[in-house]
Amino acid sequence: MKEFGHFIGGDQVQGTSGRFGDVFNPATGEVQAKVAFASRAEVRKAVEAALKALPGWAATNPQRRARVMFNFKALVEKNMDQLAHLLSSEHGKVLADSRGDVQRGIEVIEFACGIPHLMKGEYTEGAGPGIDIYSMRQPLGVVAGITPFNFPAMIPMWMFGVAIACGNTFVCKPSEKDPSVPMRLAELMMEAGAPAGVLNVVNGDKEAVDAILEDPDIQAVSFVGSSAVAEYVYSRGTAHGKRVQAMGGAKNHAIIMPDADLDQVTNELIGAGYGSAGERCMAISVAVPVTDKLADALVERLKPRVESLKVSTPTDPEAAYGPMVTAAHRQKVLDYIDLGVKEGAELVVDGRGFKMQGYENGFYLGGSLFDRVTPEMKTYQDEIFGPVLQIARADDFDEAIALPSTHQYGNGVAIFTRDGDAAREFASKVKVGMVGVNIPIPVPLAYHTFGGWKRSAFADVNVHGPEGVRFYTRIKTVTQRWPKGGVREHPDFVIPTMK
Ligand code: NAD
Repeated sequence: MKEFGHFIGGDQVQGTSGRFGDVFNPATGEVQAKVAFASRAEVRKAVEAALKALPGWAATNPQRRARVMFNFKALVEKNMDQLAHLLSSEHGKVLADSRGDVQRGIEVIEFACGIPHLMKGEYTEGAGPGIDIYSMRQPLGVVAGITPFNFPAMIPMWMFGVAIACGNTFVCKPSEKDPSVPMRLAELMMEAGAPAGVLNVVNGDKEAVDAILEDPDIQAVSFVGSSAVAEYVYSRGTAHGKRVQAMGGAKNHAIIMPDADLDQVTNELIGAGYGSAGERCMAISVAVPVTDKLADALVERLKPRVESLKVSTPTDPEAAYGPMVTAAHRQKVLDYIDLGVKEGAELVVDGRGFKMQGYENGFYLGGSLFDRVTPEMKTYQDEIFGPVLQIARADDFDEAIALPSTHQYGNGVAIFTRDGDAAREFASKVKVGMVGVNIPIPVPLAYHTFGGWKRSAFADVNVHGPEGVRFYTRIKTVTQRWPKGGVREHPDFVIPTMK
């Protein structure tokens, strides 16, 4: 059976801890590989490899670093098919969606190719007599990223793409559920010309994460995953003096105003609610139709569409979505559906009984649709992260905007309307980090920044875009004088001012 070790100092190395996890093929339910769980000592080896590579890489001029990123982008594009197949075989998302996962990562690399421009500092000539001031952005040093299972290509690239372009060296701890793609990306970075040790991958679980959070030589940690772990990573990492950005879970609402085009809305909800089996942090999980009349009409349209969703293997080009990532995650979603029924929500479509013919042991789950979900229900408050769309009815605009605004999560939200004024007011007032206007999944492009509010992000600085460059660099400001005439005669005891 295939065994994943780690990627340290430019080489694949075997795990030595004696601890392993299973990597499943979600389509069949079989264990297809073992992944080594790094010990503290193995994490330290990766940090040492990154430390060794740091002086050379940080001193490499930005244009040369950008050239490595250009090469890397071309190599990822060349290997797109292989990466997409690896991704689907471990995650379960359909191939076209895996390509999208890789492509969104490539777009961050394209942004990182502009690093010579992005890292430019500021300059003031003549700030005082013979005095100029300039600032520079410098890399932090060795930085680390801890990533979730659901975007094993895009999210590592969100992090190491920007961090490495800025002159840092990197230790990545990917999800233990789908390690293939991050391992392959590390190989491609070496092929692109990054020196050994610039990008290292350690596989593992909490032990590896704790080793990262406590290592004195790691300057900053980026994390993406569930909120409980994000909060833990933020508090433990900052307690150890690190800069931390930790993105968490979500419950993304779509507000549907009575003037919206219901056919368009139905299509958007089906795609954004059930794509990737709902295992997306920007999936729409709650639809909020405004008025009962609109809600009735929406349910009537959604019901047959959810019932006829084609759930199939990741390689079936006709599939809407594939299996869930693991049996345990599938069970968690099933438990939430049971709970929703107990809590009194109306289960309009029940996907629990779905069996995939010929793949009975795969982690498949049919689409479910709940109506009359209310804010006090646990199934409304929690993130379900599966192919389950909930409808929470609202009487008016104010009630609709209050739902996402008061929810514990605040990652993404959307409004569907033809009324520009309502959309503008919504975008301005809603307490959520990323807003879509007639756009169901408002994931900003790489040159903007990504990040939620409230329990969706424990971070002061967002991911990628200019915020990503700020996160992975620190500013130094130099005030310099080149006096024309010799040395001052007397010391100046007063704070210098421009009076
Ligand atoms: P997860 O929190 O289980 O795991 C994320 C990472 O943390 C993995 O590398 C894992 O090994 C590690 N980890 C897990 N438990 C840990 C613990 N107790 N201590 C230390 N480390 C631990 O998340 P997941 O199931 O892989 O991913 C799905 C979650 O990620 C969802 O909640 C989803 O909303 C969220 N997510 C958020 C964003 C965002 O940008 N906000 C993007 C994608 C996914």
